[in-house]
Amino acid sequence: MFERSKEAIVNLNQAKFKCHFPKCGGNCCKNGRPGLAKEEISIIENNLEKFKLLMRPEALKTLNQKGFLTKRIKGGRQTMAVSGSWCIFANEGCVLQKVGNEEGEKWKYKPFFCVLFPISRDGEGTDWYIRQKGYKGEEWDLYCLERTPTEKQPAINGLSDELDYLEKYLAINEKKAGKKHK
Ligand code: SF4
Repeated sequence: MFERSKEAIVNLNQAKFKCHFPKCGGNCCKNGRPGLAKEEISIIENNLEKFKLLMRPEALKTLNQKGFLTKRIKGGRQTMAVSGSWCIFANEGCVLQKVGNEEGEKWKYKPFFCVLFPISRDGEGTDWYIRQKGYKGEEWDLYCLERTPTEKQPAINGLSDELDYLEKYLAINEKKAGKKHK
């Protein structure tokens, strides 16, 4: 199980993780600014009317005035706008996920890097790793990352859905590259 992820994530065997949402308030969406691929931007644009119904009034105002993207580039991708310090689509949880839940597929609208959090990498072609306080100079002062060193739950259990998602992504890339997994 998760054979590709075990190979790809450099600290998977040592990492621990437990998501504390909603106790944490969903703080990973505060000033998170995920970078979006072009296809992700199109998916959001094509479904905006559904998301608007669940957005915070302040975020809706920002959306109407400036859109949901900024000029800031992260890892070659345009980044999501922020409103009142929170991601424009944050409203006691992710609006994109709430709409996906209603439609029976929780992550159908959610950006790749939001789905994978706290699994991350520093850029295309670099190692995957699990963000942890005290690892790779982690600076984000986040409840779950702060708690990580004291959690008992191995990340491979706490992140099983996310690892499954990464596994599928790695398998698709492998196929594209014409490689065979041993
Ligand atoms: S898109 Fe959703 S999960 Fe990603 S930062 Fe915004 S609110 Fe959070």
